[in-house]
Amino acid sequence: MTLQGKTALVTGASRGIGRAIALAFAKEGANVAVIYAGSRQAADEVCAQAAKYGIQARAYQCDVTDFDRVKETVQAVQKDLGGVDILVNNAGITRDGLVYTMKEADFDAVLNTNLKGAFHFIKHCYPIFVKKRAGKIINISSVCGLMGNGGQANYSASKAGLIGLTKSVARELAGRGICCNAIAPGFIDTDMTAGIDKDHHQLAGMIPLKRMGRPEDVANLAVFLAGSGSDYITGEVIRVDGGLAM
Ligand code: NDP
Repeated sequence: MTLQGKTALVTGASRGIGRAIALAFAKEGANVAVIYAGSRQAADEVCAQAAKYGIQARAYQCDVTDFDRVKETVQAVQKDLGGVDILVNNAGITRDGLVYTMKEADFDAVLNTNLKGAFHFIKHCYPIFVKKRAGKIINISSVCGLMGNGGQANYSASKAGLIGLTKSVARELAGRGICCNAIAPGFIDTDMTAGIDKDHHQLAGMIPLKRMGRPEDVANLAVFLAGSGSDYITGEVIRVDGGLAM
């Protein structure tokens, strides 16, 4: 139980990678705030499953792009669960297309959700962490933020931006004992990648470990980065990609 007594706030925790992270944290003894946009039933189910580990789990509807709503949500989590020790900025969307045809609204939606949403939560959790002189911030980036990807200029820009945000926040808060790191997953089997042919020879050929990742592969690293075993690691970007981007 490496996270006993801690409270974790995980955005986009109703499905996919965020769900796996919330459940892995709960298994390690952390209380969890499950942040979702529209999937209320799924978020409630994550809470019910997490609560089986004997911790407190609560779902909060919050659009990460809404600055004021994020502030209210962080305040509600503090009141309900007694604080925030771990923040995982995981909520993310795609609106793929070539730059030539990409609509401005699709560029803005992806940047606002994936990058600005993370800024909103860091901004509103900042005073909590500074007061405690402790805290762990984990931003879910992507190998697209490291390599770029044709047809995903908006998404790749948002994920590269998250890496810059991670390193800046790490430098800003290191003196207060607060760590900020990023995880860069490769192809992970979730709703977001549901359209990809998982057995496609090109995909298998691209990934040295010859399979898509599972949400739990990412969650295992998140547990490490949230716990005391990673206290001397900050400003780092760690790939969970089966070797794809090495
Ligand atoms: P999913 O599409 O399965 O889940 C996305 C989650 O984000 C949902 O919980 C959704 O909530 C939430 N969300 C979306 N928009 C908002 C918003 N505006 N406000 C609050 N919550 C929101 O995605 P994945 O689990 O696959 O991805 C999770 C993260 O990992 C993303 O940041 C993604 O970019 C990143 N990633 C994923 C990879 C992959 O291969 N799957 C690879 C690399 C990075 P709701 O259910 O309520 O809609």
